[in-house]
Amino acid sequence: MSKFSDFNFAGHKALVRVDFNVPLDEHLEITDDTRMTATIPTIKKILADGGSAILMSHLGRPKDGPTNKYSLEHLVNHLHELLNGDGTNNVKVFFANDCIGEQASMTSNMLKPGEVLLLENLRFYKEEEKGDKDFAEKLSKLGDVYVNDAFGTAHRAHASTAVIAQFFATDKRMFGLLMNSEVSSAEKVLHQSEKPFTAIIGGAKVSDKILIIENLLERATDIIIGGGMAYTFLKARGGKIGNSLCEDDRMQTALDILEKAKLKNVSIHLPETSIIADKFAADANTKDCPSDQIPDGWMGLDIGGKAIGIFSEVIRNSKTILWNGPMGVFEMEKFQNGTKLIALAIADATEKGAFSLVGGGDSVAAVNQFNLADKVSYVSTGGGALLEYFEGKVLPGIAAIKD
Ligand code: AMP
Repeated sequence: MSKFSDFNFAGHKALVRVDFNVPLDEHLEITDDTRMTATIPTIKKILADGGSAILMSHLGRPKDGPTNKYSLEHLVNHLHELLNGDGTNNVKVFFANDCIGEQASMTSNMLKPGEVLLLENLRFYKEEEKGDKDFAEKLSKLGDVYVNDAFGTAHRAHASTAVIAQFFATDKRMFGLLMNSEVSSAEKVLHQSEKPFTAIIGGAKVSDKILIIENLLERATDIIIGGGMAYTFLKARGGKIGNSLCEDDRMQTALDILEKAKLKNVSIHLPETSIIADKFAADANTKDCPSDQIPDGWMGLDIGGKAIGIFSEVIRNSKTILWNGPMGVFEMEKFQNGTKLIALAIADATEKGAFSLVGGGDSVAAVNQFNLADKVSYVSTGGGALLEYFEGKVLPGIAAIKD
């Protein structure tokens, strides 16, 4: 693979896999453009060198071919604004209403240096998700260099994310700037972590996080478990958890994880106390109580004061921090204190020199909500991809470029 920052794109047509899978409201307006802004530096570098960029992405999950709701055409104006925002540029953005075929190849052929072509939704073809080789080859003809900047889909072996790479010589395929920083931040945490290394895992379900916890047992010194998933562990240890979330069929797994952690000398921290509520609602009555003595009819919806104190202390003493998943139902104000104070502890540790990586939809939403995104070392754009990376899986989008 080539190094993107060293590559001179002058005269090249760069076919760039981006992740423009942004949320749209009922008026087809973009409600969060993070994924688009994250890849703008990659596009700008190609254009500044004197290259042109052909952008391809999926949007949503179209079931039956072309559907207006999922058309990337709705993104063209905003892309134009993002590329020309400061008024000094006049980057032309063209749109091809089919990602392969005559119009796409004609527009790509006539594209001049400094111009951009956005292709229609790749998933309008079933071949994309199937990783179809012929479809990938057709796409590959639209450019002479392949750049993958879509970390969010790096865990998928799709035509445009992985299969396509084989149609470019090794020196003509590379990660974009975003992909590169995602991969280096993740590698830094997983393979070059300075100790103590604390992983903070939260969210609703143990079943979603078993593989990541098992893999982290090989690397971390401390694992903090919060959120709804903590109660399966607490019940498995004999605690009374009332009506809190619990996956009874995962209790043995929870016990196995606790046992393995002991053998490997990894400290697992469960919340000693919880904020419990008498209903799952914003106006519930609440109390701070020991997490293993929750009365029937009550449920733990956030970590309690004592747990926050203990978790924060562990975090503040860490040199490497990974955070995935909220500590409670942070969408409701009454239950957001745990997530907020844990985010603040991560920010403090980062200020003192720790490397902190936050990833996964809800923890990213939380750092944004509390205005702490610029107080952590890296906020990942990849939910599922990051999770799979930390589960120890090979991500096809990364492997295809490197191989
Ligand atoms: P996940 O998608 O697995 O990371 O889970 C995120 C969701 O878990 C968020 O919507 C939280 O509201 C929810 N959550 C966190 N803590 C709890 C809890 N104690 N009880 C129920 N849901 C929770």
